[in-house]
Amino acid sequence: MPTMTTSAVVHDSELNPWQSQAARFDFAAQKLELDEGLWKILRYPTREIIVHIPVGMDNGRIEVFTGYRVQHSIARGPAKGGVRYSPDVTLDEVRALASWMTWKCAVVNIPFGGAKGGVICDPKKLSLGELERITRRYTAELFEFIGPEKDVPAPDMNTNEQTMAWMMDTYSMHMRQTVTAVVTGKPVNMGGSRGRREATGRGLMIVCDEALKKLGMQREDTRVVVQGFGNVGSNAAKLMHDTGYKIIGVIEVDGALFNRNGMDIDALLEYRQRNGTIVGFPGAEAANGADLMVADCEVLLPAATENVITSQNADKIKARILCEGANGPTTAVADDILADKKVFVIPDILANAGGVTTSYFEWVQDRQGYFWKESVVNEQLDHIMRESFDDVVRYAETHSVNNRIAAYMLAIDRVAFTIKQRGIYA
Ligand code: NAD
Repeated sequence: MPTMTTSAVVHDSELNPWQSQAARFDFAAQKLELDEGLWKILRYPTREIIVHIPVGMDNGRIEVFTGYRVQHSIARGPAKGGVRYSPDVTLDEVRALASWMTWKCAVVNIPFGGAKGGVICDPKKLSLGELERITRRYTAELFEFIGPEKDVPAPDMNTNEQTMAWMMDTYSMHMRQTVTAVVTGKPVNMGGSRGRREATGRGLMIVCDEALKKLGMQREDTRVVVQGFGNVGSNAAKLMHDTGYKIIGVIEVDGALFNRNGMDIDALLEYRQRNGTIVGFPGAEAANGADLMVADCEVLLPAATENVITSQNADKIKARILCEGANGPTTAVADDILADKKVFVIPDILANAGGVTTSYFEWVQDRQGYFWKESVVNEQLDHIMRESFDDVVRYAETHSVNNRIAAYMLAIDRVAFTIKQRGIYA
């Protein structure tokens, strides 16, 4: 195993999420003194599937889209992870996201491995019918690789409950029976879990609450800037606003908003619903997104995409707490800068794990054929998130490492232990 530090990632590849993942993995593995054979097993994904899917477009022409599904590890249970639609999807990105799913499921100690999928396409330029045909063909191509006991997809960027309904239906058509547990994040009326839609945002609020307790801070004095107002960001903003946090900044692709006294998030959600954008919201002033990322605040909550905190802006960040809603928002190079500044980082593989945890509850409910009350879902989620936060922070203190490396170490240790026990390594 090579000797590395996280900053050993050369700056050229700073924005490659797979390199960022590998740098943290290598560093954590080295700290753990991980056996070299186990390091080799865990450093690369178990399986990488590439599909080229022909789709009839509305204009009568045929287009071929490229899709990926990467299964990083199935040591602790079926692979689990979202499907992303974006023009920027790359195999390295999907690899990184798949391995983060392995570590995330291990951090919150649920019985899944890690996977991720993606299709290179621009959903903004596609009709609903075209999106449905892409989804059905992608699912059909993956038929033998997915399933409740093999690999369970879920929504991610630009996919949603409707996408999961199409995936579930396509898989079920091939199986000649309804198989709800093949995907999670479904609509509640067809095997989805109550509370799943808000779960990632709820988990983010829970870990922020824990961080405030640890640092002796109060919600009412806590100013929050949220980047990305999609599923994760808008639900986190709403739940945090409802419990007393001040959401002073919201950043989106087409504009950003600032209100030093905190925004009315219900009004913003209503405005966005009516106008399809946050731009022009009368309850805040227009702002510059890049400036807001480094604005004076207590919590910065990136909930959009990767590589938004890099060597270019990390030293300017003023937030006391960085709570990572997105996967991979911070590069490995930026980690060291944030550590020097003593920013309290709640790393993605812990902070945004509320989504996969409630996906686990959905999978359990589908297999039981018995559906829980929302209060039961939220209570179970609360318990797992708080316990996992404590595990990571205690691990960091015991081993004198930062929270991110602690989360990786905890996760790698759990996965490696299972592999040894199963005897795969024998
Ligand atoms: P989404 O598509 O619902 O929302 C993403 C939002 O971010 C969109 O509104 C988009 O316009 C905005 N955005 C994209 N790039 C931006 C940029 N550069 N600056 C500002 N805004 C930008 O996706 P989502 O499901 O909310 O996922 C967001 C992130 O959270 C992703 O990294 C995803 O992997 C991660 N995540 C999602 C879940 C989940 O349950 N959905 C769970 C864990 C992690």
